[in-house]
Amino acid sequence: MTQPISIAENLKEIQSAIAEACKASNRSVEDVSLVAVSKIKPVEIVRQALVAGQRVFGENRVQEICDKWPPLKEEFGGVELHLIGPLQTNKVKDVFPLVDVIETLDRPKLARYLVRAMEETGHRPDCFIQVNTGSEPQKAGILPEDADAFISVCRDDYQLPVKGLMCIPPVDEEPTLHFALLREIARRNGLDQLSMGMSGDFETAIKFGATHVRVGTAIFGKRPKP
Ligand SMILES: *Cc1c(COP(=O)(O)O)cnc(C)c1O
Repeated sequence: MTQPISIAENLKEIQSAIAEACKASNRSVEDVSLVAVSKIKPVEIVRQALVAGQRVFGENRVQEICDKWPPLKEEFGGVELHLIGPLQTNKVKDVFPLVDVIETLDRPKLARYLVRAMEETGHRPDCFIQVNTGSEPQKAGILPEDADAFISVCRDDYQLPVKGLMCIPPVDEEPTLHFALLREIARRNGLDQLSMGMSGDFETAIKFGATHVRVGTAIFGKRPKP
């Protein structure tokens, strides 16, 4: 038999690991936000995290956000929902009212759709630009060499609320090079928020300046393979 997992316990452990990592790099714990990645997990499980006080969540699929989150947002105040997966332009309208942060802005066409949705609704979710730091052909994100120009288009031409950068390092590579690259692109563009680090490497990411760590498995347990 497997041990039942306590989500409240797991959250506490992650929060104290975050506090340790902040201390080790002389950072304030308030500067690092834990994004609890609840993808695939059913409403009853997510509710346990909400009851334990967690308010910042990440989901990677638009349909799942639309199915799962309206009742949870109604029941619990102060939820901050991050979209951390790909956003098709024809889905912007569906998901737009539900998300507070879009971490996956990665192409000009999507930027134009977001501008229009913000104009039409007056809702202006914070945006992070996703950078494909490993230049992996199958992966979303703007290429590192195109990042400066794209940041400038989003921020200066389109006036989008660009707050920072996000990356998902290649699974089989040492993540530190990717964290350092993301930090450098942010620095030279005057952006101070970095979404990087997952269950396996969030403490390392904090040392490299992460302001948002996206942790799923370490809170909610293993996910079934999709
Ligand atoms: C699933 C996912 C995570 C969480 O990964 P874990 O290893 O379960 O912590 C973080 N970021 C993104 C973009 C994800 O899709």
